[in-house]
Amino acid sequence: MQTIDKSKPVMVTGATGYVAGWLVKKLLDEGLTVHAMVRDPNNRQKLAHLDAIAASAPGSIKYFAADLLREGAYDEGMQGCELVFHTASPFTSKISDAQRDLVDPALKGTRNVLASVQRTPTVKRVVLTSSCAAIIGDAIDCEAYPNGMGTEAQWNTTSTVEHQAYSYSKTVAEQEAWKLVAGQQRWDLVVINPSLVLGPGLSADASSESFNLFRQLGNGKMKSGVPDFSIGMVDVRDLAIAHYNAGFTPAANGRNIISAENSDFLTLGKILRQHYGAAYPFPQKNLPKFMVWLVAPLVGFKRKMISRNVGHKWQVDNSKGKRELGISYRPMEQTVVEFFQQMIDSGQVKARG
Ligand code: NAP
Repeated sequence: MQTIDKSKPVMVTGATGYVAGWLVKKLLDEGLTVHAMVRDPNNRQKLAHLDAIAASAPGSIKYFAADLLREGAYDEGMQGCELVFHTASPFTSKISDAQRDLVDPALKGTRNVLASVQRTPTVKRVVLTSSCAAIIGDAIDCEAYPNGMGTEAQWNTTSTVEHQAYSYSKTVAEQEAWKLVAGQQRWDLVVINPSLVLGPGLSADASSESFNLFRQLGNGKMKSGVPDFSIGMVDVRDLAIAHYNAGFTPAANGRNIISAENSDFLTLGKILRQHYGAAYPFPQKNLPKFMVWLVAPLVGFKRKMISRNVGHKWQVDNSKGKRELGISYRPMEQTVVEFFQQMIDSGQVKARG
C-alpha cells in the first residue's frame, strides 16, 4: 500500500516511446511534474510531441539524459520522486545480436534503474512495463495453462536468447525486478503486462514494433493472406490509464495483464476492410500453416516459431486489471481504425492506385 504525493515529481523512463507518450500526456494533464528520461535531450525534434503537450497542459516536463546501460544514469532525474514508471526497453525486430540489442538493455537496464531506486530514499513505488510475453512465450504454451489462458500466475518458461528473444528479454527483466524488490519495505513494485499495443501514437514517427506490425496489414505485405496468428491487443491510450492507475492506486499490486481482447491478424484485416473497403490491400484469408512453415526462413522467421504459434490459440484472462486497476477498454474497432488513419495521414500506407 503506497500513497503517492502528486506534488512531487514523477519519473518516466523511455519517455520518447510510443507507450510512454500517452502516459506522459496523462501525467501532464493531471498537473504533475514529469522527469522524462530520454537518450538525447538535445534532439528537440524527437521531443516535439511532448513539448507540444506540455505547452498546453497544467503539468510540467523536465528532460534528463539517460541510457539504460550507463550506470547511475537515472540518479539525477530520480531525485525527489516518489513514483518511477520504468517503460524503457527495446521493442524492435531490427536487431543483429539478440543478447546485445534486446536482453542486455532490458535486463541490465532494469537492474540499473532499480539500483537508482535503492539509492533514492524518496521513492515509494515503481511501476514496471513488462509484457504478456513474460507470461506466454509461444501461443502453444497456453495449452498447458489452466483453461488454456495466461494469467498473472504464469511465467514464460519457453523463450530463450535463441528463440523469441524479445519475450525472453521481458521475462528476465521482470524476474529481476521481483528479485530486487524483495527484502526491503520502502518501495513496492506494480507490474503492467500489456498484450500487443495498438492505436495512434502521439508522434506518428515511432520506432515501436507495434507500428511495423500494423503497417504490414495495409502496405500489401499481407495481401495474399496472413498466418493464423492469434494475439491479444490493447489500445495505447487505455494502457496509459492502466499505468497511471497502477501508480496512484494505493492497493495496486503484483502483475496486471492489460489486454482488451483476444483476437488475430485476420480479424484486424476484416475490421479495416469494413471501414476502408478495397482501397488498401488488407488480408482476407489465413494462409495454410504448411505454406507459412515452408517459406518462413525466406522471410526471416524461424520454423520453430511458426510451429509453436500459427494455429494455436493465444489467450489471457484480463479480469484482474479490470477489477483492481479499474480499467475499461474501448472497442477494438476504434483502436484499429484510428491507428490506420494515422498511418494514412502520415503517408506510411498508400491507397491502391
Ligand atoms: P518504443 O516506442 O520503441 O519505446 C521504447 C523506449 O525505450 C524508447 O523511449 C527508447 O528510447 C527506450 N530505450 C530503448 N533502448 C534504450 C536504451 N538503451 N537506453 C535508454 N532508453 C532506451 O516501444 P514501446 O512499444 O513504446 O515499448 C515501451 C515498453 O512497452 C517496452 O518496455 C515494451 O517492452 C513494452 N511493451 C510494448 C508492447 C507493444 O506492443 N508496443 C507490448 C507489451 C509491452 P529511444 O526513443 O531513444 O529509442
